[in-house]
Amino acid sequence: MSKNHEAVWKNCLQVIKDNVPSVSFRTWFEPIVPVKLDQNVLTIQVPSPFFYEYLEEQYIDLLKKTLRKEIGQEAKLEYNVVMENNTMNNRPYTVRFPARNKTELHNRPLSLPVDKDAPQIRNPFIIPGLKKLNIDPQLNPEYSFSNFIEGECNRLARSAGYAVSNKPGKTAFNPLFFYGDSGLGKTHLAQAIGIEVKEKSPELTVLYVTANRFQTQFIESIRSNTRNDFLHFYQVIDVLILDDVHEFAGKEKTQDIFFHIFNHLHQSGKQLILTSDKAPVELQGLEQRLLSRFKWGLSADLQTPDYETRMAILKKKIYNDGIVMGDDILEYIASHVTNNVRELEGALISLLAQSTLNKKEITLDLARQMIDKLIKSSRKELSIEYIQKVVSEYFNVPIELILSKTRKREIVQARQVAMYFSKNLTKSSLTTIGSKIGGKDHATVLHACKTVNNLIDTDKRFRLQIEEIGKKLKM
Ligand code: ADP
Ligand code: MG
Repeated sequence: MSKNHEAVWKNCLQVIKDNVPSVSFRTWFEPIVPVKLDQNVLTIQVPSPFFYEYLEEQYIDLLKKTLRKEIGQEAKLEYNVVMENNTMNNRPYTVRFPARNKTELHNRPLSLPVDKDAPQIRNPFIIPGLKKLNIDPQLNPEYSFSNFIEGECNRLARSAGYAVSNKPGKTAFNPLFFYGDSGLGKTHLAQAIGIEVKEKSPELTVLYVTANRFQTQFIESIRSNTRNDFLHFYQVIDVLILDDVHEFAGKEKTQDIFFHIFNHLHQSGKQLILTSDKAPVELQGLEQRLLSRFKWGLSADLQTPDYETRMAILKKKIYNDGIVMGDDILEYIASHVTNNVRELEGALISLLAQSTLNKKEITLDLARQMIDKLIKSSRKELSIEYIQKVVSEYFNVPIELILSKTRKREIVQARQVAMYFSKNLTKSSLTTIGSKIGGKDHATVLHACKTVNNLIDTDKRFRLQIEEIGKKLKM
């Protein structure tokens, strides 16, 4: 009795479905289309070369078993690989497989035709699949564990990271989620895991990618109609490091695809490492289903380093750079630059630059001058309240009047100037600025900024006033 390809494949799927996780089934088996059955050779069509590789790598035994049960010991499988969008070759129906020689085959996998009868990668049961893709992990060798100073501020995060690097995907810390303010070492630590994994298990595919880059790639893949390739590319990674996931806020399509990638990797025991400026519970603009998954593993925060750790970081830095510097100078820096590690490094670098440029020796005095300047200019973001206070003093208008509804001309102007500086010197939204200046709406704030800008352009006296206030605010 001769069987038809659809029936055979349907029976195979029944068995496969019981043997793989449902997400994997949906991802890797549902998209397959049975094409034909020629004696003992079943031909199936898969959406991309990655897909073919992945099936070969992960499921070949299962496929073999089920197929043999269906069509006998001599069963063979052939693939048609289809590209939705043929970017490398504009004549999709003319490239024929099998290739005439090996080189051609290896150079061609991305430009396979859509023609059902033509392209086939033959006989995977015996001939090994295409070479595994070599993916550059995008890691910076400087960001190693050995360059990462441990302190109270990062102890949990660091040791979890180290545990993960020994057994990626095999610990309870999956995903491993690092959070904390900017400049505290999230990127460094996340990359350190990647470097360590690569050292211990070079065969694993590690990838570091920023959330922004991921999004750009995704959008590009939609534009060029290669979304499937994008998806499958990310699904073959063993250790995926996604930096600054808070950048996904409000970007629903990107979150959606990442959700699928996350599920797939997590289900297949692959490791995910995420970083963010906030803990999962505090992240805004991210879908609930994504946030709940972020909480599955371990979230560890990075805190501001204490004095000891700051000293140790400085010492490590100058040691690595081969610089000698007195402890008194390091102590001065460590006790004055306290916000985060990036600023700490910045201070050290400026000091070195100063001394080189001006051919001055690095002395405590030079360090003092420079650091004091640095601290002033990087002072905390101005608050709206502080701006209102300075403006009220400058125009000699009581702050209550600025916050009131008075339409008197000088008061309106002072109010507008306060809004103008709040817009330009803080990160607050127009709505926030308006609500803090007597419950105005965002359109009023916008109008105020326009008025002030117009006056600056047309009224010299006014412009000078604005400059003076600006100076006072930045002092
Ligand atoms: P984040 O990603 O949290 O904004 P980064 O990882 O980029 O911070 O760190 C900022 C800089 O500080 C980097 O140059 C990094 O090497 C350094 N750094 C942060 N934490 C440490 C640490 N514990 N030991 C050594 N260097 C650190
Ligand atoms: Mg970072």
